[in-house]
Amino acid sequence: MGLFVYLAIPKTQQMNFFLSSALATTLLFGATALQAQTNMKASDTEYYSPVPPTLTIDHGIPSDAIVLFDGKDLSKWKSEKGKANWTVANNVLEVKPGAGAIETNEHFTDFQLHVEWKSPEVIKGEGQGRGNSGIFLQGHYEIQVLDNNNNPTYVNGGAGSLYKQRPPLAQVIAPDKWHVYDIIYKAPQFSKDGILTAKGTVTVLHNGVVVQNNTQIDGTTEYIGLPKQISHGPGPIILQDHGDLVQFRNIWLRKL
Ligand code: MG
Repeated sequence: MGLFVYLAIPKTQQMNFFLSSALATTLLFGATALQAQTNMKASDTEYYSPVPPTLTIDHGIPSDAIVLFDGKDLSKWKSEKGKANWTVANNVLEVKPGAGAIETNEHFTDFQLHVEWKSPEVIKGEGQGRGNSGIFLQGHYEIQVLDNNNNPTYVNGGAGSLYKQRPPLAQVIAPDKWHVYDIIYKAPQFSKDGILTAKGTVTVLHNGVVVQNNTQIDGTTEYIGLPKQISHGPGPIILQDHGDLVQFRNIWLRKL
């Protein structure tokens, strides 16, 4: 009977139905399930829709990506005070100390984000005072940018950390001064009443090395005090002005 019902529902739903149905059947009628298993054809567990989109890659950028900074201008960005006015030269974006953070005009939910960054040429300061910037996901959760070349600091504040929450799994030195972050982010979910129903998660590859592995986000990034739960919808990518001449290039995002 289980198999009869299974064949009567749409093909795309059959896998889930089959798996739960098979589990229940195994518990209740183990021998019957084993019999059904042996009667299955390979095609019973294959389906054909929906078909995944076909992408091409141009200079490392997937064809469905939103290019947030291509080296030319800051048209996709703004600042708290209005126009984004960090320095753009030689295809590179540089923090303008005192100008404040910049953020994307567009707001996002779940995404894959690619950012390349470089610590200042002139090394000065130490710890959190050396080459500090940051990438805020949905405007609330900072993936730290910091000079990590022989620059000790608290481990949950280093490059690749989910700032003040989770240290990176490794400290990865840039091969040619330019660092690469590939960030896969799933936004937290909230009920209509603003209660957290699912924590956000983040995976970060730093120069190709996994440094955050599906890390749960406890709440907002706070310099002093514990993370806070703040209900929110889609939010911007924010780049932090921490007073250091950190550079960025080649920033793109894919919505997930
Ligand atoms: Mg920072």
